[in-house]
Amino acid sequence: MANNLKLPKTLQEAVAFFSDPQRTFDYAVKLRWPDGSVTCPRCNSIEHSFISTRRIWFCKGCKKQFTVKVGTIFEDSALGMDKWMIAVWLIVNAKNGISSYEVSRALGITQKSAWFMMHRVRLALHEKHFVQLGGSGKEVEVDETFIGGLARNMHADKRKLRITHTGTKDKTAVQGILERGGEVRAAVVSNRKKHVLQSNIRAHIQAGSAIYTDALMSYMGLNQQGFEHQVIDHAEKYVDGQVHTNGMENFWSLFKRQLKGTYISVEPFHLFRYLDEQVFRYNFRKLAHDGLRFEHVASRIIGKRLTYAEVTGKVGTTDRLPN
Ligand SMILES: [Zn+2]
Repeated sequence: MANNLKLPKTLQEAVAFFSDPQRTFDYAVKLRWPDGSVTCPRCNSIEHSFISTRRIWFCKGCKKQFTVKVGTIFEDSALGMDKWMIAVWLIVNAKNGISSYEVSRALGITQKSAWFMMHRVRLALHEKHFVQLGGSGKEVEVDETFIGGLARNMHADKRKLRITHTGTKDKTAVQGILERGGEVRAAVVSNRKKHVLQSNIRAHIQAGSAIYTDALMSYMGLNQQGFEHQVIDHAEKYVDGQVHTNGMENFWSLFKRQLKGTYISVEPFHLFRYLDEQVFRYNFRKLAHDGLRFEHVASRIIGKRLTYAEVTGKVGTTDRLPN
């Protein structure tokens, strides 16, 4: 690489670093093919010629051209890698989230482009889980909450029609699992029934863990499934020694503040993407500097792809926490 610039640690350094197209290209190539062996994303051929003036490869296997963006969240995007890198930087390092309007102004692109870009970055933030949380001697909080409910902004007549006796018709249920001193996981769930909430618990928490929940009936019976389950009844009190769900409550309040203050109106079918973002923010909040968070996400863009149709389609409500 024909540069001596160190990897950026601040936004200012990042803007300087990625202002050089060749350096940005070299960086992206290294992310895309960490072992240095450029491989055709369509046919996996390593036989190709590089057209340096256009920074594209011509594959000798399938006789097609490919760029560094093919097979990543940047595929089909007309926006330059310089803008993409800064967009990733802004999103992963914004403590309370950043709106598509802010990103649009910061990068000089349309709000629609920024919105789509941010959803693609959120896809890269989505974590796959291969290990369960907890374990013998570990404490895990499980809690659920409702997000949304725009009833208070509605005209009284309309509100009457929408509000049911439970008051949750317009709200989306989400479930969260937090290992104390460890990571948090959260997902949209279709309801708060026992089979939904407990199947996530069995999938994501090791047997033998101490589990703390509120008194919701859906959590009853966990002791018969190998967990040490204790309940804090919020009708009586919020903390009883170790037994509380304050860690999860804290996560929910940060998430709700972000939705209210930064994102304003989030469609329920997109909610899981914002949850992924907040989970990432929480789990990586202790990294030493912003550059480390950026590199962590940049390394995840490989092999992820999100089309405009997928972003705008009504997909995403799932009973399962991401795995
Ligand atoms: Zn090929």
